[in-house]
This record gives sequence, structure tokens and C-alpha cells, in this order.
Amino acid sequence: MRIVLAAALAFGLAGSALGQPQERLGAGQPLGAGANQAKALSFAGGRIFQAIGFGNTFMVVTKAGDVIVDTSLAPNAPRHRALLRAVSTAPVKDIILTHGHGDHTGGVPLWKEPGTHVIGQANEVELRNYQTRLEGFFALRNAAQYNAPAMRRIANPNPGDYAAAPLADVLFDKEYRFRLGDLTFDCLAMPGETPDMLNVWIPELKALFIGDNYYASFPNLYTLRGTPPRPALNYVQSIDKVLALKPEIVLPSHCVPIVGPANVQRVLTQYRDAILYVHDATVRGMNEGKDVFTLMKTIKLPPQLEVGEGYGAISWSVRGIYEGYAGWFDGDPATMYATAPGEAYAEIVRLAGGAGPVAARAEALVAGDPALALRLTSAALAAEPANAAALAARKHALERLLAASKNSNESGWLRAGLAGVEAARR
Ligand SMILES: [Zn+2]
Repeated sequence: MRIVLAAALAFGLAGSALGQPQERLGAGQPLGAGANQAKALSFAGGRIFQAIGFGNTFMVVTKAGDVIVDTSLAPNAPRHRALLRAVSTAPVKDIILTHGHGDHTGGVPLWKEPGTHVIGQANEVELRNYQTRLEGFFALRNAAQYNAPAMRRIANPNPGDYAAAPLADVLFDKEYRFRLGDLTFDCLAMPGETPDMLNVWIPELKALFIGDNYYASFPNLYTLRGTPPRPALNYVQSIDKVLALKPEIVLPSHCVPIVGPANVQRVLTQYRDAILYVHDATVRGMNEGKDVFTLMKTIKLPPQLEVGEGYGAISWSVRGIYEGYAGWFDGDPATMYATAPGEAYAEIVRLAGGAGPVAARAEALVAGDPALALRLTSAALAAEPANAAALAARKHALERLLAASKNSNESGWLRAGLAGVEAARR
């Protein structure tokens, strides 16, 4: 997950539910997870500690100093540091970043001491450059998705090549292994949600930090705020490598750890199989000549593979896989040209007698098919952007979809749509 907003965003999770069925991410989850945490959670016989948040911060204690895995969003970092420093005040020898998203890197300046090494996978450099290159775009998209004020745009220190400030001073390609005190830290390249994802394996504790390649929802194979393809087969291969290590505990950077070797195998096998199922069904449909919308509508997980859609959604993932493989062209020659669908919408609405009758039809559809009603209001407003009936129908369609939504990202965009209606009415 990538959050760069200075908003206190977090999903609820139950720290006490360890080893129980995983708490699921979703729209109904309270924000500010971990805000009431009084004490760091303890695992692996008191060697690993967790501060809960979006995302989590972990501390591993060794006889020669401490290692931090991920550092959360900057606003969460002081609370996390206080919780973990109550356990140990030994020197922080290393900070390992599972990937370069802001909800994992925000606390680095707070944790870094003179002599602390910051470790990342080599693709972190380009991931951070990419985030810097598109800083303005993501400021708007993240503000909508997470219903927060647009992030202050940070002046790019190097606008010519869009380079981000370096973060890690140790970068590796496939594997970076070091020993500290009595523990081995095996950092392994595990591309999945991002190309720079790494996992940390501590063989002495049979503990694995999985970053964002697993959380308690179907993954965001495509995130609505915009992302390059997150190849489904990368997740599958990386999770296979985790399963082969036979961990006894798997610690994700969001949600609660998966505890117990059998539980780890069961949960991660199901997760891998769910991703593979959606991938294979999409590829099969593509090869059969089916269009992306048909596949978004029809591909569903079988019951034994349902892992929840509180954060990622199957339909967006289907489209992410389809367009990740094929790009944006849909085979309709009309799509080759810069004439926007909205231009055609406006023509058709005028032929239908204007936005009024189209809005009335949308209003009639709200109860039965709010997504189609929403599309019709897009058409009506393309012709008449301030039409009151079209704005009212749009509001009702958005409210209906919001009431039914169990997905936090979907809810965020529906709320952003409602804010857009309010702004158009002013
Ligand atoms: Zn994340």
C-alpha cells in the first residue's frame, strides 16, 4: 500500500486476535488503528515487537543491537518509536525497508542514528524516482482515494531528472544477508506489490517479514490511485518462496501476523491460489477474445479461495491484469483518436432531449443498478455540467453505492465523487 498523506490513516486490526482467522481490511474498519495501543506486541519469545499502524513498525532485538523493519507513515512514527523504545533502547544498527512506499519509509529520519544502515532492494531507487516524478498527480489521486486534503507539493530538488533523495545506503539485487548478535537477517528480493519488495527471513526464529505481499484482503493488483502493473505472477512466485522456507510466523506490514506453521501454510497457500485463479481466468478470457468489462463482471473467486475484498477488489485486479498485459487499446478503432467518450455522450444526450430526461432515467435506475445510473449522470453532465437533476441523481447513485461498499478504496472514491457533486452545485 502506498500512502504519502500526512493524514492519520489506518485500518483497524485486532492485535489480540493472533493466530485467529485474520482480521480483514475494509470500509467498515475504524481509521487510526493502533492509536490506543498501550504496549508493543511481542512475538518469537520476546525477540520481535510490533507497533500497530498504517503500516506497522517492527523491532527485532539482538545481543548486538536492534533492527527496525519498516517505519510507518511519518505521523505515526513518534507513537511507534515510543512503544518500541519502551522495550529496548539499544542502538538501532539497521533499518530494513520492505519497499519504498511512504507508509513504510516515513519514520526513517526518526529512527536513523549515526552509523545506522538503511537497507533496501535495488529497485527502490526507481520506485522512489517514479513517485517523485508523479508527485503532483499522486497528490490529487491520494487526496481523493483517502479523503484527505491534497498533500503539500514538495518542491522537487532535482526537476531535471526527477530523482528522489536517496534513502537506503545498502542496496542489493537478489539477496543480502548479515548477522547481528545471535541472529541472521536474510533480505530476499520478493517482487509483488512493488518491484522493490523485499522479505526478511530470520532462520533462528523461523520468522518472515512479508512486507505488503500479503494483507488480510485480496491484494490491490491494481490500485485506483494509479500504478504500473503489479504482476500477479510476481506475487505467486514470491509467496511460493515464502512457503518453501516453512516459517512459523509471518509478519505483514499491515494487519496482524500469521502465527503457527500450519496456519502460515494454509493462509498463504489460499492467498497465492486466489491470485493465481484470477490471473488464469483473466488470461483465459483474453485468449477467448472476451472484452475487459465482461471479465470484470464474470470472474469470481470460488468459495474456498475467498480472501475478502476490503482493500483490493477482484474486478479491478482483472482489469489490472488485462491492461497490464495488453495496455489501453480495446480494439475499437474509435479509441485510436483523441475524441473523448464525453464528447459522444454530450451529442447523444442532446439527441435524447437534454440532461433532464437522462437524469430522470438515471434516478429511476438508482435502486436497481446504481453503477449504470452513475454512468448515465456522467453522460448527462457531459452535456450540461450544472444540471441540477443530473447532479441530484448522481448524488443518489453515489450514496447507494457507498452504503453497499465494503471496500475502503471504493468508499474513498465514492466520497470524492460526492464532494465533486457538492462542488459543482456551488
Ligand atoms: Zn503499505
